[in-house]
Amino acid sequence: MRKYHRILLKLSGEALASENNSIEPKTLDKVAEIVKSVLDLDIEIAIVIGGGNIFRGKALVQKGINRVTGDHMGMLATVINALALADNFSKHQIKNVVMSGFAIGGGVCEEFNHTRAKHLLSQKTVTIFSAGTGSPCFTTDTGATLRAIEIGADAVFKATKVDGVYSSDPLKNPQASRYKSLSFDEAISKNLQIMDTAAFAMCRENGVEICVFSMLDDNNTLLEILNGKPLGTIIS
Ligand code: UDP
Repeated sequence: MRKYHRILLKLSGEALASENNSIEPKTLDKVAEIVKSVLDLDIEIAIVIGGGNIFRGKALVQKGINRVTGDHMGMLATVINALALADNFSKHQIKNVVMSGFAIGGGVCEEFNHTRAKHLLSQKTVTIFSAGTGSPCFTTDTGATLRAIEIGADAVFKATKVDGVYSSDPLKNPQASRYKSLSFDEAISKNLQIMDTAAFAMCRENGVEICVFSMLDDNNTLLEILNGKPLGTIIS
């Protein structure tokens, strides 16, 4: 029996950026290729996109901007990224709809609606959720777990720079080892800094699994995991 029917992919804004571009066209193509391969497996896929490549509320505070305003700017940054993803999906003939956590007029995108999102997903349309939870003082990781619960996703796949969760930072400590799996309680108590505690707690309460994997390598790791390869770290 297949383990996953509907998944939510969490991409950070930084995952889209390169040295030269805040939104790198080659990365957009890579995401489109990965998403197509998931749809070809007959698995429904929704995306939550971050905005850290453009603005983060916390960082804006250091520049003298009010936190709530900064968070609004951060959420709008996620909408910009979502529109870039969507435009490129359309070029690759991937059906998609962008939704935002708050209302944006002018035909820019739809406001999030869980019933409509589920309907679209069942029609093999990729839903791209932007503006996180729609409220300041949260992160898009919390937005991702919230949306995953609302659309009834089986798991949140969080793309990171490393290929899973390590006992310590593998970029600094060569002895660090990768966890193949963790419980939510272990992830919270070890304070592993993969996601905020609120996101873990929501997943734990609602039985949504988290898989941390790398999108930076040349392989399609997400596809390999969906095909049963024991890569990344599963938190359940
Ligand atoms: N943000 C927010 N509420 C949310 C999600 C995000 O206010 O529910 C703001 C916050 O300022 C955050 C920014 O949007 O710093 C971009 O999101 P995040 O930092 O999670 O992006 P990522 O690190 O995934 O690129």
